[in-house]
Amino acid sequence: MTYDLIIIGGGPIGMACAIEAKKAGLSYIVLEKGVLVNSIYNFPTNMTFFSTSNLLEIGGVPFIAHNDKPTRREALEYFRRVQESWGLRIQLYTEVLRMKRSGANYLLHTSKGDYEGRHVVVATGFYDTPRLLNVPGEELKKVKHFYDDPHPYVDQKVVVVGAANSACDVALETYYKGAEVTMVIREQEIYPKVKYWIRPNIENRIKEGSIKAYFNSRIVEIRPSEVVLDTPEGERIIANDFVLAMTGYMPNYKLFEQLGLPISDDEDKTPLHNPETLETPLPGVYVAGVINAGLQTSKLFIENTRVHAQIILAHMVSKDSVSA
Ligand SMILES: Cc1cc2nc3c(=O)[nH]c(=O)nc-3n(C[C@H](O)[C@H](O)[C@H](O)COP(=O)(O)OP(=O)(O)OC[C@H]3O[C@@H](n4cnc5c(N)ncnc54)[C@H](O)[C@@H]3O)c2cc1C
Repeated sequence: MTYDLIIIGGGPIGMACAIEAKKAGLSYIVLEKGVLVNSIYNFPTNMTFFSTSNLLEIGGVPFIAHNDKPTRREALEYFRRVQESWGLRIQLYTEVLRMKRSGANYLLHTSKGDYEGRHVVVATGFYDTPRLLNVPGEELKKVKHFYDDPHPYVDQKVVVVGAANSACDVALETYYKGAEVTMVIREQEIYPKVKYWIRPNIENRIKEGSIKAYFNSRIVEIRPSEVVLDTPEGERIIANDFVLAMTGYMPNYKLFEQLGLPISDDEDKTPLHNPETLETPLPGVYVAGVINAGLQTSKLFIENTRVHAQIILAHMVSKDSVSA
């Protein structure tokens, strides 16, 4: 069958688009390469959102959490309930690999066969592609770009790279579980926008020497049992068991290429789109959610992209009624 709309990505914003499509009476399907809200599922096990639960709500479904900031576990249950209560059509474990034109429609080639749609929303997030350190030794198994649980790091010498929310969470959590933690930070301070209840904690642990921090420094080489640092005082070689590179993530540009989505040639590398309608230069193909900010991954969140769903569907429906 030919769907009115195919949504790539079953994250919060892909789901919000599905809800709007359902409200508009369109035939739609969400294609998700992993589990429901796959990125959130892969967030650190004990993670707490910086947003309050009401700002993460979609489709008018109330998000009741135990505290004002919900946990990952509560978010997983919330989005499962949203899917259930709206009866959303989400095809899990179905990875979109390529897209091409098929007359006025688009043909999506996936790991589970082909799908054809009149319109497409790309809402693939940024949590699949880590920003690499690009240093020798990064390929060693002890180097992690995704963190889930502190237990593997008990009694281990851990280097945490970065100074934003994820790095601070990971440094504190592994320290409290008995790891010997060293932070390596490019800047001269902890990122000022770190969650307000985390920043004083990490700064005080650094001040008292419980967590060692090298500011204005970077890793230049990772070896099996040590790392080499470039610091303002010169080269330092420190003993090391694990490197947790919390250096951020970026959209999957290879996928954009396979979909035929053009990218801006400035440093943000955003998928080109009309900011009013979110339509890309491919007619009927839209981008939604955090990918719209390209490499500026701290600019867009769930809270300020939930509205993308209404914008896109309103444009899609009005365009259709004009051409009908
Ligand atoms: C640790 C962390 C904490 C965050 N905390 C907050 C917060 O407190 N508040 C907030 O508003 N934002 C937060 N964010 C930012 C952002 O809101 C989230 O990343 C959010 O998940 C983005 O929603 P999305 O729907 O745009 O993308 P995602 O949730 O990333 O969804 C994209 C989906 O697309 C799927 N996908 C990717 N490629 C394909 C493909 N080829 N085929 C099929 N499916 C594909 C992915 O598996 C994924 O499920 C946080 C981000 C991180 C990393």
